[in-house]
Amino acid sequence: MMQLRFYPYILKLSHEFTVAAGSRSITPGVQVEIGYEGFTGYGEASMPPYLGESVESVTAFLRQVDLSQFKDPFCMEDILRYVDGIAPGNTAAKAAVDIALHDLTGKLIGLPWYKIWGLNAVSAPYTTYTIGMGSPEVVKEKVLEVAGRFRMLKIKLGNGDDRALVRSVRSVTSLPLTVDVNQGWHDKYKALDEAAWLAEQGVVMLEQPLPKDWLDDLGWLTERSPLPVFADESVQRLVDVQRLKGVVSGINIKLMKCTGMREAWKMVNLAHALGLKVMLGCMTETSCAVSAAAQLSPMVDHADLDGNLLISNDPFRGVQIKGGKIVLTSAPGIGIVEA
Ligand code: MG
Repeated sequence: MMQLRFYPYILKLSHEFTVAAGSRSITPGVQVEIGYEGFTGYGEASMPPYLGESVESVTAFLRQVDLSQFKDPFCMEDILRYVDGIAPGNTAAKAAVDIALHDLTGKLIGLPWYKIWGLNAVSAPYTTYTIGMGSPEVVKEKVLEVAGRFRMLKIKLGNGDDRALVRSVRSVTSLPLTVDVNQGWHDKYKALDEAAWLAEQGVVMLEQPLPKDWLDDLGWLTERSPLPVFADESVQRLVDVQRLKGVVSGINIKLMKCTGMREAWKMVNLAHALGLKVMLGCMTETSCAVSAAAQLSPMVDHADLDGNLLISNDPFRGVQIKGGKIVLTSAPGIGIVEA
C-alpha cells in the first residue's frame, strides 16, 4: 500500500531574490514522500507567494489525498486524475504528489525518467542562471560572482531603469542574455522598442514582457519583435497551451504551475506539435523538484533550471550543472539521493 507523508521545509536563499512582484530571502516549501514496499519516492511543493499557495494550503490539500485506494503505483493516470480532482488550483501540492509518484515508479523500474521516456542525456541543454533584481551595482556584483560557470545568464527587468541594468551587466560579461520582464511592461510599443534595443545588446530571448492576459498585444509584439517572445505567467497547464499558438514563440513550463511531470510531458509534446518552442523553468526549489524537471530537459529548447543553486540548505543531491550544461545522473526515478 502506498503511504503519503509530508512536512514543511523552509528553503533558505543564499541571496535575497527580487522580481517585479517583490523581494524575499526564504521560500516556504513542503517535502513529500510516498512509501511503497520498502521504496521511497520523493516530491516537493515550492510556493513563491505570487502563486497563492502556502504551507497551510498545501498541507491542507495533502491531508485530503488518500492513496490507499490504489493498489498499483503504475496506474499513474488514474492516481493523478484523482489527485487533480480533489480541488481546483493547488498546483504545487499536486506537483509534489506527481513528483513523488514518478520518483517511486522510476525506482521500482530501476531507471531514471529521462530513460523511461526514451530521451538522450547528451541532448540536455545548457541552463541559464538567473540574476535577481537589484541596483545596477548589485546586479553587476552578482554577475561577477558566477563568472565562468554558465554559458547564458537571465536577468529580470520591468522594475526600474531596465537599460541601466543591462548596460551594467554588459560592462562585466559578454555572455548571451535572456530577459524576463515578469509582466512588468504595460505598453506594446515600448515593449517593441525595448526588444529592438535588447537585441542589439546580445539578448536572445524575451520572457513575459506584457501582462499575462494581453494575448492580442503579445501576438502583435511576437510578430514584430526581433527576439523570440516566451510566455510564462500566460501559461499554467495543458489546457492553456493551444490558445498560445501564433501568440508567442514559445512557452515556459514549470512543474509547480502545471501539477507535475506527467502534465509537463504532455505540454511539451503539444507545444512542439503546435510549433511552439519550449522552455523549462523552475521556482526556488531543492534538487528534488529541479532534478524532476531536468528529466524532461533533453526535449526542450531552453532551460532555466537553477532554483536549487540559489538555496543554502538543499537536502538532496541530484542533477548537476557542469560548464553551464545540465548533467543528468543515472540514479533511478527523478535522479536524487539524500545529501
Ligand atoms: Mg518567468
